[in-house]
Amino acid sequence: MDHNALKKPLSGLPEAPSADDYRSVALELLPYIQANVPPMGEGQSFSRLGFLNEVARCDLGLARLIEGHLDATQILREAGHPAVSNKLYAIWASGGPSDTTDLTEGGTGGEPAELTGSKPFCSGSDIVDRALIYVYPAEQLVDVNMRAAGARDYLRFEAGQWVAPAFAQTHTWTVSFGGLSVKEDNCIGDHKWYFDRPGFCLGALAPAACWVGGAMGLVDSVRKRSLQNGHARAHLGAMVSSVCSMNALLKWAAAQIDADPDNTSGNLFPTALLARHHIERACTDILDRFGRTLGPRPFAFETGNARRIAELTLYIRQCHAERDLEELGSYLEAHPEFCSGTLQ
Ligand SMILES: Cc1cc2nc3c(=O)[nH]c(=O)nc-3n(C[C@H](O)[C@H](O)[C@H](O)COP(=O)(O)OP(=O)(O)OC[C@H]3O[C@@H](n4cnc5c(N)ncnc54)[C@H](O)[C@@H]3O)c2cc1C
Repeated sequence: MDHNALKKPLSGLPEAPSADDYRSVALELLPYIQANVPPMGEGQSFSRLGFLNEVARCDLGLARLIEGHLDATQILREAGHPAVSNKLYAIWASGGPSDTTDLTEGGTGGEPAELTGSKPFCSGSDIVDRALIYVYPAEQLVDVNMRAAGARDYLRFEAGQWVAPAFAQTHTWTVSFGGLSVKEDNCIGDHKWYFDRPGFCLGALAPAACWVGGAMGLVDSVRKRSLQNGHARAHLGAMVSSVCSMNALLKWAAAQIDADPDNTSGNLFPTALLARHHIERACTDILDRFGRTLGPRPFAFETGNARRIAELTLYIRQCHAERDLEELGSYLEAHPEFCSGTLQ
């Protein structure tokens, strides 16, 4: 992958980007993505993860938006439903008690259904052009044109709930849909298809690739300084070692996906859980060592690092911690051969 071609659009991002900056740089990246970023599970998965890694190394907020776009367009590809060119996509599938989205039945004469209720954690809510939204009661994924004529009359963006400065400009807001019409053409896959497709496992590695990039950005910043003592050098050694192990594990997981994209072995989800766990722990270690190496100054006085620390700390919380480990352990109990030898 030509990282030099990537540098130009990324260099347009200011140190403290606004939502408008994110939208304009993301739109500028779309032709690059179209031309250079391979799909998942077709032989070059690591290159795709490497792209996300580079974007996150530059800016975690931008990476959060681009990761959603890549996931959404990959889902559309798997559904045989081509994405609209040069449109920025998101995927909003978060559930739980605060997700009240529902889909009314469409009329028998082909009248559109209506999307109602609210969805939390909609990254890029008023930034993106289109969003894939998973509606749990209907078990249906729908593709919504967020900028269609008249759509904004139905949409409400709950900006005030997100109180954290981290990721504030990604506008990860709750969105209410107020009866927005959804035609049959906008339904992606059959009921439950979104969770049942093998590609669901493949998407799980993309956030982890962003976490690695975020940690690499912190390590880059340590590497640029002249270190004052042996403790700082020891931390640098440990941090670079962690970056290498995270990337090695991502590469291994990507190779598993390319070898079995339809997940016939059933191993891909535990593979993703295993990689995500290691990466989450290594990022936590890097966050800790970064502070122990440089003290409070970068947290307090350095705009880029203060934001990166806060965003990486929040982003890795997307893992489901011990609940994921329990799932991994249960899989290992049922499949004692999984990862029992040397990693291939
Ligand atoms: C920066 C960021 C951006 C995101 N963007 C998107 C997006 O664009 N699209 C998308 O689909 N998703 C997005 N997500 C959401 C993500 O996919 C998960 O849905 C999200 O991490 C929340 O899941 P969860 O609450 O189930 O947490 P989990 O980690 O799965 O669970 C948290 C646990 O804590 C418990 N808990 C929480 N609060 C309380 C409380 N007050 N009292 C008792 N127990 C409690 C819960 O019951 C649960 O058991 C984003 C997340 C982050 C961090």
